[in-house]
Amino acid sequence: RYGIHWFRRDLRIAGNESLRYNWSQHAGRVLGLFCFDSEFLKRADFSHNRFAFFLKTLRQLQSEMRQQGGDLLVVDAAPSKAFPQILNELKRSDYGLPSLVSWGRDYEPFARARDQQIENILQSFQVNHHTERDHLLMEPHEILKDDGGFYQVYSPYFKRWYASVLAEKGQRRIQAQKVSEGYAQRLIQGDLKNIFQTSWKDFKGLSFLDQLEHFESENKKSVTIAIPEAGFLTAYRRLQEFKNRVGDYTAQRDLPFLDGTSQLSLYQKNGSLVSSQILQTVGFRDQQFVKEIAWREFYYSILWHRPDVEASAFLPQYKNIKWQNDASWFQRWCEGTTGFPIVDAGMRQLNTTGWMHNRVRMIVASFLVKDLLIDWRWGENYFMKMLLDGDLAPNNGGWQWAASTGCDPQPYFRIFNPWLQAAKFDPDAEYIKQYVPELRDLPAKIIHAPDAERGIAGYPEPIVDHAVQKTKALQLFALSE
Ligand code: FAD
Repeated sequence: RYGIHWFRRDLRIAGNESLRYNWSQHAGRVLGLFCFDSEFLKRADFSHNRFAFFLKTLRQLQSEMRQQGGDLLVVDAAPSKAFPQILNELKRSDYGLPSLVSWGRDYEPFARARDQQIENILQSFQVNHHTERDHLLMEPHEILKDDGGFYQVYSPYFKRWYASVLAEKGQRRIQAQKVSEGYAQRLIQGDLKNIFQTSWKDFKGLSFLDQLEHFESENKKSVTIAIPEAGFLTAYRRLQEFKNRVGDYTAQRDLPFLDGTSQLSLYQKNGSLVSSQILQTVGFRDQQFVKEIAWREFYYSILWHRPDVEASAFLPQYKNIKWQNDASWFQRWCEGTTGFPIVDAGMRQLNTTGWMHNRVRMIVASFLVKDLLIDWRWGENYFMKMLLDGDLAPNNGGWQWAASTGCDPQPYFRIFNPWLQAAKFDPDAEYIKQYVPELRDLPAKIIHAPDAERGIAGYPEPIVDHAVQKTKALQLFALSE
């Protein structure tokens, strides 16, 4: 008897409950499987950079499994093709079918449809499956209002979410996903025990080959930024480091020139670490930090209950706003040459590092929508292409919040002034100067002044007048009401 664990976005061993269940049912005889469908390369929001980070994470996981007697096979096929093929071969072989396939649950519309398909395939082979909650502390169907509806306002959602996390159920979950200190230390020292009792190498004569290296070498050509270290151990170390500065989080989290946030989002995206492990380590003292973790879960809840938000506005009155969609303005926003220093700094941080500070994400998003009058979906799509932490639910939620079209959004008449935002959150223009070096020698006062004569060769004048565009944005929204 043996099992297969189908990895998706739970790329770790520590505190992976569905993997652990499978492992315990088969006394360690569990094989890891990851299926990548090359069709994904054709998606408009596909990102070679993010894929490179993902592949790095897979590589770390494979090595971690191999060091412990196990294995991870990465196949070049959609799960709906890979499973029938693999199961047919195993069925015909001496090894026979696995008795169980396990995975961690996911909540995106695409993932829900795919998982249903795989359940049907497994059923047709009479192979059992077992799933567990994984990257959310509370699943979307668990945090509901008294009348059974889902929360459309964040504050009451948070209240209920937080109470559930502190209650026995939440604490049990946190305990179950806890990373054992001993495991992390053994991993650091390269002194791991053989916890897995089988590997794909034991399954001789099967035709499927590991394609990880193939993907790595094919994808490398299109990568445009330096890809950070990936995997559980890197995420674990970053978490330990953040633990020492979480006390400063509330004071520093809005200041993009400081390293005031955790920068754990990219590890959460692939499941190198999950929220419960983060909270277990940093604790609940900083309420603002806990609230940010809950925002992520709130947006997953919205996507679960209203999957249509993937394509259109949450608020029906804003589905048909007549955006102006000037392609050349969009291009300048993408490149970071709008002449609004804080916007350009943010876009250049995104383009060169694959990450952007949350405060600046809000500023550039608001600017695209309410100053350039461009459809928020253009920006959402560009973020997905560029962000290493690009994740449908928080990305869509963040964009719809900034565009005032979403669930519990920024009201449409409250429009960020990019000049004032910059002066408030980057007073000495340190962040701006880091990413827009053309402005390095100018005093902050001049950088933050809308009408200043900057006279910097190669740095553009502001692409629009904020006050004029604000009036136009208000009209667009009012017309749509
Ligand atoms: P921290 O401040 O350390 O926060 C801890 C964790 O809480 C984060 O890792 C993240 O999981 C969660 N979190 C923090 N802020 C938010 C938020 N506003 N909404 C939801 N979750 C939050 N986050 C993504 O993970 N992927 C995205 O694609 C994404 N796109 C965004 C697009 C826009 C327009 C906006 C305004 C926000 C977006 N966010 C996205 C949310 C947020 O900007 C990032 O999660 C955060 O900047 C990640 O940095 P951090 O790990 O240092 O966050």
